[in-house]
Amino acid sequence: MVRLATVSPCYNEEEVLEESARRLTKLFEQMIAEGLITQDSLMVFVNDGSRDHTWDIIQRLYHESPYVCGINLSRNRGHQNAIMAGMMTARHWADAIITIDADLQDDLNAIPKMVREFSNGNDIVYGVKVSRTADPWLKRFSAEAFYRLQSQMGVESIFNHADFRLLSRRALDLLAEYPERNIYLRGMIPALGLPSATVDDVLSERTAGTSKYNLSRMLGLALDGITSFSIRPIYLILNLGIIFIVIAFAIGLYVIRALIVGTAMPGWSSLMLSIWLVGGFVLIGIGITGIYIGKIYQEVKRRPLYHIQDILTHAHEEMD
Ligand code: UDP
Ligand code: MG
Repeated sequence: MVRLATVSPCYNEEEVLEESARRLTKLFEQMIAEGLITQDSLMVFVNDGSRDHTWDIIQRLYHESPYVCGINLSRNRGHQNAIMAGMMTARHWADAIITIDADLQDDLNAIPKMVREFSNGNDIVYGVKVSRTADPWLKRFSAEAFYRLQSQMGVESIFNHADFRLLSRRALDLLAEYPERNIYLRGMIPALGLPSATVDDVLSERTAGTSKYNLSRMLGLALDGITSFSIRPIYLILNLGIIFIVIAFAIGLYVIRALIVGTAMPGWSSLMLSIWLVGGFVLIGIGITGIYIGKIYQEVKRRPLYHIQDILTHAHEEMD
């Protein structure tokens, strides 16, 4: 039997939270009855600095339910950091942790399958979205384009897998050894290299509330996903530079020929064009290099990823 903890990040989720806790409780009771998970399994809700009544609801659920635990971050730190806060705190409370968004858009039926895969010896079980029909068209399109771009850029990640996954305690302990500040879990976890499996995840629509991932947050995640793991963009610029030098040689030959033949004109327009073109590419190059310097700047500061304000738990802390 597996002592399981689910970890769900919550940012302004007062509309869905109670329903989600209800559905998870039902699932827990089924799995306990089937002898899949232990009685002292837990569901951990991480309040990521919500401005609504999310934390009040978590506190109430904690008092009402033996399963519900709460972690209250001191301010909004974003989805990835909230998951990390939950996993790193709850890893001492369970044998395995499943991260699932608080809106439960992911497939609850996948959870028992993940637990079985864990019992079969897998440290990591990825939920892979097999159907995104519940997602709006733009979201589906941008997400899939993002996964493709990412793999072209050489980031090792699982296609159509977001942050719905099971991690064993061993995997979590290894993850804790990654001191980096720009965390992108979808790239870090495959890097652990532990035995893994995948299960299907059929997405459903949000039952209530709205998506907290707007376009700028999605672009931010996409940019992080690439620049935290790949230095290929820098090499693309480098190659472009080489191509430009080759072109410059060709133009040089053309100019020499024009001089010899005597057709050379004061080529002001082409000169200006080149200046702008080259200037533009130089700027792009500086920009991309700048992104990496920005990352170095953040990493060397080694700021904590989050600060926990309160913890509500039914778990008995193990000393290890
Ligand atoms: N979330 C969070 N902090 C944030 C933004 C989102 O903890 O700053 C949580 C949110 O409560 C949800 C999950 O991250 O549980 C995914 O967000 P959402 O459902 O809005 O994204 P989508 O499913 O539309 O990608
Ligand atoms: Mg969602």
